[in-house]
Amino acid sequence: MLRDGKLRTIGYLRLSLTPACHMRCVYCRPGFHRNNPRNLLEAEEIEPMVRHLAATHGVRKVRLTGGDPTARSGLTEIIRRVAGVEGVEEVAMTTNGLLLGTRAQEYRDAGLRRVNISLDSLDPERFHRMTGLDQLDRVVEGIDAALEAGLEPVRINTVVLQGENEEELPDLVAFALDRGLEIRFIELMPMGPLAPKWKERYVPAPRMQEVLNPHVQEWTRLPQGSESATRFRVTLQDGRQGTVGFITPMSCNFCAACDRIRITADGTFYPCLMDRPGGSLMPALRPTFDPELFDELLVRGLSGKAAEHPAEGFAIMTNIGG
Ligand code: SAM
Repeated sequence: MLRDGKLRTIGYLRLSLTPACHMRCVYCRPGFHRNNPRNLLEAEEIEPMVRHLAATHGVRKVRLTGGDPTARSGLTEIIRRVAGVEGVEEVAMTTNGLLLGTRAQEYRDAGLRRVNISLDSLDPERFHRMTGLDQLDRVVEGIDAALEAGLEPVRINTVVLQGENEEELPDLVAFALDRGLEIRFIELMPMGPLAPKWKERYVPAPRMQEVLNPHVQEWTRLPQGSESATRFRVTLQDGRQGTVGFITPMSCNFCAACDRIRITADGTFYPCLMDRPGGSLMPALRPTFDPELFDELLVRGLSGKAAEHPAEGFAIMTNIGG
């Protein structure tokens, strides 16, 4: 088993496949960040690394992220290889959903099991403002295609911004519940383009619940498990039922239960989403996988994992993948 310096057991790899993304979300991608990824890990380099993490260190869950993983050429082959690794119990993906309309079934057939899809607004103008793309319909098509393909569960992720989509939370919950989806509202983190304005734009989860309260008859807290979200079974005033979660890195961090490591598309190791990188693993990945060197670099990077994330993030979200 792999443990960090604070004795937390690591079981979950978040692997960013590319810093490129079709969207330019106001809270995520800095204006200077271009879509010209270079030096990306290849499928043949990813597979032995994941095999080693599963066999030697007990990693059981892999989430593919980015940028957007669907902007990465050869994604289906990467899914196939990662899903084929013995010991990996679950391959998940976080995506903007734009390409799922045409590719969800292909990804499912390759071994993808679950998907989180970002959806910040159901209002086309607001969606455009928040994501830089006038393609709300395509994302909704992507959500429906993911359901159709049998990805299970399909979850919606919504970053909540004061003065933007805060009042839209009840509509987003209704949208999700009507499709049998879980929705998770994410607190804005002080990293990325809105970091300087974080205090003005941040909405704490208790405030989100306040906005939802007039529409909710009953909140029943679900067991936390290893989830980063605080989840509730809700019954709406009109009787509809479903699950609503809050991801609260700022108001109530879940660092004590953190079981994650992050590796970016260029082989940089991040022990924590908001902290500085823990070094490059590339010397152990290229030209061929070197397990001893990999462990040396990994353990060195992991030993510096702090008990709690710093107050502000250092990484670019589109590099590290959330
Ligand atoms: N492109 C994919 C997507 O749209 O979900 C995956 C990458 S994205 C960086 C992963 C997650 O990070 C998304 O749910 C996104 O909304 C969230 N995110 C990005 N910047 C954030 C910030 N400053 N605060 C909170 N969440 C953020």
